[in-house]
Amino acid sequence: MGEGPGEREREEGVSPSPSSFPSPSSPRHARCELLAGRALHTSPYAELLLEAMRTSGCAVYRDRHFSCEDCDGNVSGGFDASTSQIVLCQNNIRNQGHMNRVVTHELIHAFDHCRAHVNWFTDVKHLACSEVRAANLSGDCSLGNELTRFNFGFKKHHQTCVRERALRSILAVRKVSREAAEKAVDEVFDSCFNDREPFGRIPHGKKDARFAYRDFQNRDRYYSNV
Ligand SMILES: [Zn+2]
Repeated sequence: MGEGPGEREREEGVSPSPSSFPSPSSPRHARCELLAGRALHTSPYAELLLEAMRTSGCAVYRDRHFSCEDCDGNVSGGFDASTSQIVLCQNNIRNQGHMNRVVTHELIHAFDHCRAHVNWFTDVKHLACSEVRAANLSGDCSLGNELTRFNFGFKKHHQTCVRERALRSILAVRKVSREAAEKAVDEVFDSCFNDREPFGRIPHGKKDARFAYRDFQNRDRYYSNV
């Protein structure tokens, strides 16, 4: 964590700028690949999501499904539903903590895409639901990651942060009015905020995420024995 003010990223951007094809061997690209690899192998959030996708029959692979690229503006990542590819914005991802959150956030979209038939482009409520879940469960709004947290009680703050982030994400990827985006978020907020799959809880830190991962593995074991 430890991020300075004014750095709260606008995530998303389903299509990165097609004009930018950085040399794969650029230092920025190599650094992005390194951070991504570490996220996939050491972040319990990412590990849980990868396993949940494997057990749902939608395994994701680092080589095939992750791509470090330069992106427009201050976008830090995106999920391309047509190819199930996760774009990591090598020009905007600042450090390992940031990479872990971006990977987790986009994996939640990939998980939603895998388990449900999501109409990403035709139904803004579907997008809103996945954005609420991604903001709620990825650590985007966890204590330590939000400088405004002292303005609210923690619980209230968390919900306010999730709502704001979901709104920003929708507005970053869809040409809809703020009113339309707010309406969509409000309509889905309660049910999607309370849908904590595959974590089973809101992981407010690595420790929580590790517990969630362990519970998920036990749950899986249980079901496989039934
Ligand atoms: Zn998102």
